[in-house]
Amino acid sequence: MTEVRVRTRDGEYPVVVGGDALAELARMLAEHAPAQRFAVISDDRVAALHGHPLMEAIRGAGLDASLYTFPAGEASKTRKSWSILTDEMLEAGFGRDSCVVAVGGGVTTDLAGFVAATFLRGVPLVQVPTSYLAMIDASVGGKTGVDVSMGKNLVGAFHPPRLVVADPAVLRTLPRDERAQGLVEAFKHGAILDREYFERLESDVAALLDAEPRAAEAAVLRSVQLKAEVVSDDEREGGYRQILNFGHTLGHALEAASHYALGHGSAVAVGMVLEAEVGERMGVTAPGTRQRLTDALERAVAVSAGSVDADEAMRYLRTDKKVRAGRSRVVLLRGIGEVDPGHGWTHEVAEELLAEVLAQGVAIG
Ligand code: NAD
Repeated sequence: MTEVRVRTRDGEYPVVVGGDALAELARMLAEHAPAQRFAVISDDRVAALHGHPLMEAIRGAGLDASLYTFPAGEASKTRKSWSILTDEMLEAGFGRDSCVVAVGGGVTTDLAGFVAATFLRGVPLVQVPTSYLAMIDASVGGKTGVDVSMGKNLVGAFHPPRLVVADPAVLRTLPRDERAQGLVEAFKHGAILDREYFERLESDVAALLDAEPRAAEAAVLRSVQLKAEVVSDDEREGGYRQILNFGHTLGHALEAASHYALGHGSAVAVGMVLEAEVGERMGVTAPGTRQRLTDALERAVAVSAGSVDADEAMRYLRTDKKVRAGRSRVVLLRGIGEVDPGHGWTHEVAEELLAEVLAQGVAIG
C-alpha cells in the first residue's frame, strides 16, 4: 500500500492506494475517522457486489455500521436521493459523532460526500472509490454535490474527506466500458503534467482495460499523485487547479449537446483532441499534438461525435461559466505533458474558432 497526502486549507488527508487496501479499511477508519457510528452509502450495484464482505469486515472489527443504498446511475445524483439518505440517517438516530463512508463510483462519492457535508452541518467523510474515474478523479479534491435540472454539479459543497482508500482489486467487477471512460481522465493527467506517464498509459492500455492488478495500481497511484499535487496547491480552483479542465470546455459542451448519449470520458476525449486543435491553430500547442492524443485515446475509447449538433454544443458553450463577453477561456497544452501557462493557466479563445473546430466533428477509434 502506498499513501499520498493531500493538503487542504484545514490540514491534510491520506489517499491510500493498494491491491490489499480494503482488507485494512476497518483499521484505517478507526485510526483516521473514529466515530460512534458509520453510515456506509453505496449504489445498489456496487453494494450487491462488494457490500456484504465490506460490512462484515467493518462490523467484525467492532465498529457500528449500517448500509444505505440508492439506485445506481447518474440519474440518482439528485437532491431527492440526498433527502432520502439524510432522512434515513436522521430516522436511524445518527448524530454528530457519526461518519459517512462512500463506497462506489463518482456518483456515490459526490452524493454521499454531499450528505456528509450537510448532515447536521457536516460530519466526517471517508471515500472508498470503486471505479477508475472515482479513484483517480472524483474522490480526491474535496468537491461534492448533486445535479439539478439546470445542469450537472450545480449544487454542492467543498468537503474534503478524512481518508480515501483506493483498492484497484475492485476494478475487476467494473464493466470494461466504464474502465475505458475513467482511463480517459488518466490520459488527461499525463497530457497536462507528465509525458512519461502518458507514454506508460499508451503501452499499458490493454492491461488497464483488463484491470490487470499491477498496471491498474501503478496508474491509479500516479494519477492520484498528480491530482493531489494540483489540488493541494489550489484547493478551490482559483488558478492552477483549472489545468484539470483540459478537454472539459469543449467536452462538456459536446456531452450536453448529445443529451448525455456521449459518455463523460468519451466527451472529454473528443474535447482534448479538439482543444489541441485549437491550440495548434493559435500557435500555442506543438504541431502534431492533436494527432498524438488521437492515436493514444483511440486505444482506450471509440467515439463518434459526428452526430452531435455543433450549433447546440456552441449554445451550451456560451452558457459555460468560463465564458466571458463572447470569449471562452480554455486550457491549452504546449505539448504532451505540459500546459501552456497562458494568463492564469487558460487562454482566451474567440467564439468563431471554437465554432469552426466544433463543426469539424471528430471520430476517435
Ligand atoms: P458511477 O458512480 O455512476 O459508476 C459508473 C457505473 O459503474 C455505475 O453503474 C456503478 O454502479 C458501476 N460501478 C462502480 N464501481 C464498480 C465496481 N467496482 N464494479 C462494478 N460496477 C461498478 O460513475 P463514475 O463514472 O464512477 O463517476 C461519474 C461521476 O463522477 C459523475 O457524476 C461526475 O460528475 C463525478 N465526478 C466528480 C468529480 C469531483 O471532483 N467530485 C470529478 C470527476 C467526476
